[in-house]
Amino acid sequence: MTAQRAAAAPPPEQHFACTGCGKCCHGWLPLTVADAFANAGRFPLALVWTSVSESSQAFDLTVQLGTAVRISKRQRVAVLIAPTAYLPPSFPCPALSPENRCTIQAEKPLRCRTMPFYPYRRAADQADLLVPRKGWACDISTTAPLVYQQRKIVERDDFDAERAALLAQAPLLRSYADTTLKHYPSVLARLIKAAQNPATGQFIVGFSSFLRQQKMHDPITFAQAQHPLLLAFAEKAATSPTLATYHRYYQESATELAWFANAKPS
Ligand code: SF4
Ligand code: SF4
Repeated sequence: MTAQRAAAAPPPEQHFACTGCGKCCHGWLPLTVADAFANAGRFPLALVWTSVSESSQAFDLTVQLGTAVRISKRQRVAVLIAPTAYLPPSFPCPALSPENRCTIQAEKPLRCRTMPFYPYRRAADQADLLVPRKGWACDISTTAPLVYQQRKIVERDDFDAERAALLAQAPLLRSYADTTLKHYPSVLARLIKAAQNPATGQFIVGFSSFLRQQKMHDPITFAQAQHPLLLAFAEKAATSPTLATYHRYYQESATELAWFANAKPS
């Protein structure tokens, strides 16, 4: 649900309207923690860790929404941890109808409400997100509503609501990151590797360790919704060698959640 960067300077006024082509409702969808738990029976979930270098414009905001980690004497990185509907780019969102309509319009995640804006970035740094990717049918003609003017979002209620939710959950994810990096050297090693590879800077972790550390949501309810879904997606992803990474993740994540899924509610 993000768009690619455009090379040219953006115009001072940008228009945008969704025509409902459904093209952006495919692949990864970052979610708030609350949206992830609310949709545990709908989306196969992963925690996407993103490393951002200290020289990046996004560093300060990423620290606010995530955390800062010193990975060596000389290097500190900002780390964002985003609960994510972890779908291959070719897979439609499970809530997308065959007619390309969202079937959960009234309760769709905050991320979908804010689209095309992206509060993981500064409000003044959104212009390129209004340039549709190849094949997307977004209307950016002057007949569409004016949405971005002089680097300001014209109607920013949804942007502010998603940003506020991200800021409110940051202490929880910071605590999870601190504990995980302290007790799981393999995750720290993956973060160091991601920091050394600015091309991606990302890696995926399953939900089980987060479930153990957070106290806000019932892990058994979550696992009982998520476990069969992961197994179903593992089966779907088994049909193509190009989906091997997804297939492996779904299987491993389902195995990790099995204990919770088979536990009796307290
Ligand atoms: S929840 Fe609805 S709007 Fe969001 S990605 Fe799925 S189909 Fe699209
Ligand atoms: S790609 Fe553009 S037009 Fe198509 S569903 Fe997404 S926002 Fe709407």
